[in-house]
Amino acid sequence: MEDLQLILKKEPKYRLKQVKEAVYRDLIGNWDFALTLPLSLRKQLNEKLPLEIKAEIFDSRDQKTTKALIELQDGNKIETVLMRYSEKRNTVCVSSQVGCPLSCTFCATGKMGLIRNLTADEIVNQVLLFGRIMKKEEDKVTNIVFMGMGEPFLNYDEVIKAIKILHDPEGMNLGIRHFSLSTSGITEGIEKFALEKMEVNLAISLHSPTQELREKLMPIAKKYHLTELFKAIQSYQKITRRKVMFEYLMLQDLNDSMDQALQLSKLLRGLSCMVNLIPYNETGVYKASSTQAINNFRRILEDNYIEVAQRYRFGEDIKAACGQLAIRKKG
Ligand code: SAH
Ligand code: SF4
Repeated sequence: MEDLQLILKKEPKYRLKQVKEAVYRDLIGNWDFALTLPLSLRKQLNEKLPLEIKAEIFDSRDQKTTKALIELQDGNKIETVLMRYSEKRNTVCVSSQVGCPLSCTFCATGKMGLIRNLTADEIVNQVLLFGRIMKKEEDKVTNIVFMGMGEPFLNYDEVIKAIKILHDPEGMNLGIRHFSLSTSGITEGIEKFALEKMEVNLAISLHSPTQELREKLMPIAKKYHLTELFKAIQSYQKITRRKVMFEYLMLQDLNDSMDQALQLSKLLRGLSCMVNLIPYNETGVYKASSTQAINNFRRILEDNYIEVAQRYRFGEDIKAACGQLAIRKKG
């Protein structure tokens, strides 16, 4: 944006609007297609701010999922996934960091460690890339989830900036309620997020009803205890009055027992929330719960008046499903 403003310094004011329309609405991939701009400006923009996004694209067999392996300017790579849920819903799952420092034991990204945070532009570019792909299909991106690589609340400012750009009516104009952000439970992030006055959906990766097991699955839980986490969620809800979603990974013989379903029901009693039961995508560590175990678990929650949804598996054959995103080091 700063570079753009510099280039547009001598141009009339309405140029910025024209530029935004070309990039976010017309989804051009080269300034030559920005027909409202003078030729000399298009040339200058192509030289100084090229719109090309370098990426390798993989489609799942059923054509519902597309994964992009994007090469950033410094050579680092990230993955972004598009899920075509229905005619009306095309969701882009964006990454917020290259890698992730939190080392959750079940997550492929966690094994990479943190390489660096992404800038807001790099987050927005992931959506632009899929916007361009959807345009070719005469369709568009409708929803954004921050559930790709990285912990969004450890890159707070750039994530918020990206949401604002994507939501901007002069930009992509995506409805604010069509954004969801998933956190492993960084309480400072949750508290800060409550004050943003943004109606973005908040999801919390819970995965266990007890502190002891949660610590084993997610080392960061040692720093952010369950009691602290729930205090933060309560204060978030007091301010926003918004329902939260709890993500619960179903791991065979680890967190999928009847007892644990009861413990979870107790923990969530009285909270405005829903639980998303996530089938575990194997990353070589644990085993996924059986369908029967998931159904039994679900029934107990529902018997205790807890709203439950089951996550559909997308793009396993191209390693695009939750927790499978990881980039191997070069060489
Ligand atoms: N760092 C954030 C957001 C990215 S991970 C977080 O942890 O919430 C998005 C979701 O994918 C999280 O709920 C995470 O627990 C889940 N996930 C990680 N590895 C997974 C795997 N192997 N199978 C299924 N879900 C996984
Ligand atoms: Fe990071 Fe989320 Fe993976 Fe944990 S699950 S390592 S927080 S990306």
